[in-house]
Formats: sequence, structure tokens, C-alpha cells
Amino acid sequence: MKTSKPILVGITGGIGSGKSTACRIFSILGVPIYYADDRAKWLMSHDTDLKQAIISNFGEESYTADGSLNRAYLASVVFPDEQKVAIINGLVHPAVKKDFEKWVGSQTAPYVLKEAALLFESGSYQDLDKIINVSAPLKTRITRVMMRDRHRTEKQIHEIIDKQLSDEEKNPKSDFVIKNADNKLLIPQVLELHRKLLAAASA
Ligand code: ATP
Repeated sequence: MKTSKPILVGITGGIGSGKSTACRIFSILGVPIYYADDRAKWLMSHDTDLKQAIISNFGEESYTADGSLNRAYLASVVFPDEQKVAIINGLVHPAVKKDFEKWVGSQTAPYVLKEAALLFESGSYQDLDKIINVSAPLKTRITRVMMRDRHRTEKQIHEIIDKQLSDEEKNPKSDFVIKNADNKLLIPQVLELHRKLLAAASA
């Protein structure tokens, strides 16, 4: 029986780079994936300690009467204020870190993926063994997101991009780069990385 800890691999990339698409391929290969951004949202609604800390900092209005997160309130009060964003991140990131560690403890695969848009920006890359950055030209990413998210304007997409590090900054910090431009094939790159990561895990 395998008892050793899996290799922890972070997979990141700016909005529309294709990290979720790449993760879908890894998932088909049987690789367990922790979706940190989705899990953060879940924890904000279900982790008792985190909920209490959010209420202490931002008031009872942070949750609706049925106990679910009051997204409209947080969007109007917290997210426009950088200091408040730093406070909420300081509460959510440690909760995600703890939850991820618990999740890893239950995994038996040779390696696992942690998908997050802001792996470098949040500092959580430091807890991982390897990092993959999914990169694509900015124009391609904007076109893809506009096709995918009809509700978003180009200006809103640029505002998100402005809060993320560029590929020029992330690629040199990463162990692997998946190039997901329209003229590159994604599946062979994922297969090649899968082979390398399995080899690293059995070394
Ligand atoms: P976000 O940070 O917003 O979650 P993401 O990095 O996870 O974005 P995806 O959702 O995987 O990006 O991809 C963005 C859009 O681009 C999706 O609609 C996806 O189907 C499409 N897409 C991804 N890769 C390719 C590709 N190689 N060719 C064509 N379309 C692609």
C-alpha cells in the first residue's frame, strides 16, 4: 500500500488562460484536483470558525438570515476597499491552506493538483512542490472570456487582469509552462507533463 505523501503541484494562470480546461484533461487522467477558488467560496459559507471571523470583522450583514454568504454586501462593502480585501484574504487563505492540507492527507495518487488563479499573488505557491503556469496571449484570453462570460464587459475583464501577475512575471517563477495559444495543442502538453510528474513521483 502506498503511504507516501503525493507531490503537490499548483496550477495557475490568468483569467481565460485555460487552467480549468487543462485541469479537465488532468482529471480524465485520474489526477485529483483541489479547486482552491471554489473551495474558498464553500468554506466562507460552511466553515464555522471562518464565518465567525468574517462576522467579527465585517458584521452580521455578511450572512443572510439563512446563514449563506451575503455576496452583494461583501461586493459593495469589502471588495472595493483594498485594506478590507487584505483582511478577508488574511482570514480565507489560512482556512483554505488548512482545508487543502486535510484534503491532501486523504489522497493516495502519486501527485495532486491545486488549481488557483492567484497562486503567486496569495503566496500559497510556497506550500507546493511544483508549479504549472498556463499561459496564453492576452488578446486570446480576453476573446475567450468574452465568449464564455457573456455578462462581463471587456473593461471588467481588464480590471481582473490588472489584479493578476502577467505571464512575463509568472513563467520564470514556474517549473512548467503550458502554452495555450490557439495555435498550440493542449492535450499533448498535458500528457507530457503527466508523464514527467509521474516520473518525478516514482523517483
Ligand atoms: P478563469 O480564471 O476565468 O476561471 P481559466 O483559466 O480557467 O479561466 P478556462 O475556463 O479553462 O480558463 O478557458 C477560458 C475559455 O477558453 C473557456 O471557454 C474554454 O473553453 C476556452 N479555451 C480554453 N483553452 C482553449 C483552447 N486551447 N482553444 C480554444 N478555446 C479554449
